[in-house]
Amino acid sequence: MLVHQILKSKGDDAVISVTPATKVADAARILAERRIGGLVVSEDGTTADGIVSERDIVRSLAVRGDGCLTETVAQMMTRNPVCCTRQDTADAVLARMTEGRFRHMPVVEDGKLVGIVTIGDVVKAQLMELAMEKDALEGMIMGR
Ligand code: AMP
Repeated sequence: MLVHQILKSKGDDAVISVTPATKVADAARILAERRIGGLVVSEDGTTADGIVSERDIVRSLAVRGDGCLTETVAQMMTRNPVCCTRQDTADAVLARMTEGRFRHMPVVEDGKLVGIVTIGDVVKAQLMELAMEKDALEGMIMGR
């Protein structure tokens, strides 16, 4: 299973991004409205300059209080996020997410942002693949 197959199965491959100048309160609103856990931060909408996740916002709220909501995402984002390409395998992406303890990975090709995969997307795709393999094996055994 490759990342491009995961992106295809998601259907909507639009990446929701914000600029570094976006206020943290606005980023939190977008996360809530879109029901997502992370946003790619991009100066021009084509590069993955950073990533800001709900965890970054929750941690800042706990450590610094609600004053952080009026700051910009540039102040709390993780710069130079780990990215993958469409040709990476789901296994490799899952291993990098597990090692790095993060759940989002921008998909970049020739320096340009082409999608985003989450740990949920990868696990869902792997479960579907396993179910198909199981059906095929059962079919072979039962002579279907
Ligand atoms: P997450 O589990 O994705 O909500 O993120 C947990 C932490 O890892 C947060 O501090 C994020 O900013 C950071 N993070 C998320 N995705 C990535 C990534 N692809 N590369 C590096 N850091 C990341």
